[in-house]
Amino acid sequence: MKRWNGWGNADTDYPVPPPALDYLTKRLGHLDPAPDSPKETSLSAVTESRLPAHPLADMSVEARLTHARGQSMRDWVELRYGRVDSFPDAVAFPETDEDVRGLLKYARNAGARVIPYGGGTSVVGHINPSKSDAPVLTLSLEKMTRLLDLDETSRLATFQAGVAGPDLEKQLKARGYTLGHFPQSFEYSTLGGWVATRSSGQQSYHYGRIEQLFAGGIAETPRGRLEMKPVPASAAGPDVREMMLGSEGRLGVITQATVRVRSVPEAEAFFGVFFPSWEQGSDALREIVQNELPVSMLRLSNPLETEITLILSGKSWVGLADRGLRTIGYGNTRCLLVFAVTGSTRLFKRTRREVAALCRKFGGLFVGTAVGHTWEKNRFLSPYLRNTLWERGVAIDTLETALPWAQVREASRAIPQAIVDAMSKHNEKVLAFSHLSHVYRDGASVYTTFLFRLTADPDELLARWNDMKHHASLTLQKYGGTISHQHGVGMDHAPYLPAEKGALGMDALRAVCRSFDPDGMMNPGKLL
Ligand SMILES: Cc1cc2nc3c(=O)[nH]c(=O)nc-3n(C[C@H](O)[C@H](O)[C@H](O)COP(=O)(O)OP(=O)(O)OC[C@H]3O[C@@H](n4cnc5c(N)ncnc54)[C@H](O)[C@@H]3O)c2cc1C
Repeated sequence: MKRWNGWGNADTDYPVPPPALDYLTKRLGHLDPAPDSPKETSLSAVTESRLPAHPLADMSVEARLTHARGQSMRDWVELRYGRVDSFPDAVAFPETDEDVRGLLKYARNAGARVIPYGGGTSVVGHINPSKSDAPVLTLSLEKMTRLLDLDETSRLATFQAGVAGPDLEKQLKARGYTLGHFPQSFEYSTLGGWVATRSSGQQSYHYGRIEQLFAGGIAETPRGRLEMKPVPASAAGPDVREMMLGSEGRLGVITQATVRVRSVPEAEAFFGVFFPSWEQGSDALREIVQNELPVSMLRLSNPLETEITLILSGKSWVGLADRGLRTIGYGNTRCLLVFAVTGSTRLFKRTRREVAALCRKFGGLFVGTAVGHTWEKNRFLSPYLRNTLWERGVAIDTLETALPWAQVREASRAIPQAIVDAMSKHNEKVLAFSHLSHVYRDGASVYTTFLFRLTADPDELLARWNDMKHHASLTLQKYGGTISHQHGVGMDHAPYLPAEKGALGMDALRAVCRSFDPDGMMNPGKLL
């Protein structure tokens, strides 16, 4: 069963290793477990539904609470401190495109707003109903999960858009294919959600971002059905398919998505390399990409992230490895690179050799598969740490951007520093660190994680978080970064969008929304 106020399956846990707790206490100060508001308190806050009955709509308080919030920091605070104060009036579970059309009509007749809901894994406030006079219908696609067509000649698979990562891969694997889209939220996030948020999987360097994977599909909009034909490429003017990418539920409900699939790879492995410094590591990364070595993933942690990753792994060999690395010159400034090679056995061997050789040029120490394998094993498990850390009194949040290589090095120092500076004004400590992942020939995404202490007062906690988030957002924009490389805009990033798109760009986006949704019934308050 899915947790109602945290991440993931209630039966899965990621205990915090005791040395990691000691470390966090030393770095952040005394930790007090936060209050954990019981579910009954939140259920009792659910107000009476304002929508008329519909055979596909669930009006129960349980369904309305469990679809009220996603995974943003604000969402967690509201859920854990018993402060959720807006709920959908009903949650509908369509099974077909026709059901979706019927539900849009029902919502229109009732004067309701509609929030398309995939897996609810948004971390920036995409699926939250705002308090409004109009009723809200959350439209969950959880029953729309079928593989509708597999064109093996063209390697195109058409799915209903509510299919979540594991189910999608299972259906493809049964036929010998993979999509290869593995966001860290893979366990719950859905194909429609990936398209609507312009998601990026951990191996996007090899498989492509969702923009490259999404070939076409169908959306049910308030003005009717929009078909986006899957063509390999087109010069037929601006691309309507592109408008659906990142539309965040504002234009309609994506009901079907056709994606570009590949054969299941013959071989794949994850490797570790230590660099003596961030400068050497990031230069190596850039060369790997610019020399077009066919890796499938590159992820370089800065020194603090390297330290914390090793401590949180809880592995018994970490202490020994630490001492060994220090004696050969990989001390406090060392950085860990995890890279993956995916493909045919022949390509696999050659790429591994070439990457290891290039890393050596920059002082890299190739350490084989042990670290890489641990990372791979935990890749979808590590979000569970958010639950266990919270229970011990530590909040964890992330933010991300992408910038040209010329700015990457400075920005990846300045962003965590902005977080630390913001928190020091509150006389509080925070552990803020970054990694580079999702690399491109012209730049990279800088992904920053920050850990800080919970407080008894949720307003104080949110004030601190707001300051950190705001200063980091201004900093990344100062360096020319995008407000989001993969998480999207939602409510949290909407105030920063005009600086990125400009007045004319914002007008154009508003016009597109009006064109598909003249009455503004689709997911208001998000994106724009
Ligand atoms: C632990 C964790 C790790 C994460 N890691 C990554 C990562 O590695 N890469 C990454 O890209 N993101 C990541 N995310 C963010 C999140 O998982 C993505 O934004 C994901 O694409 C959201 O998919 P979803 O199905 O959960 O959508 P939801 O959260 O349900 O919805 C997100 C938005 O998409 C809209 N939407 C959803 N389905 C449809 C549809 N069928 N039609 C129209 N609109 C729709 C919603 O209205 C909403 O605006 C992570 C989140 C968490 C909690």
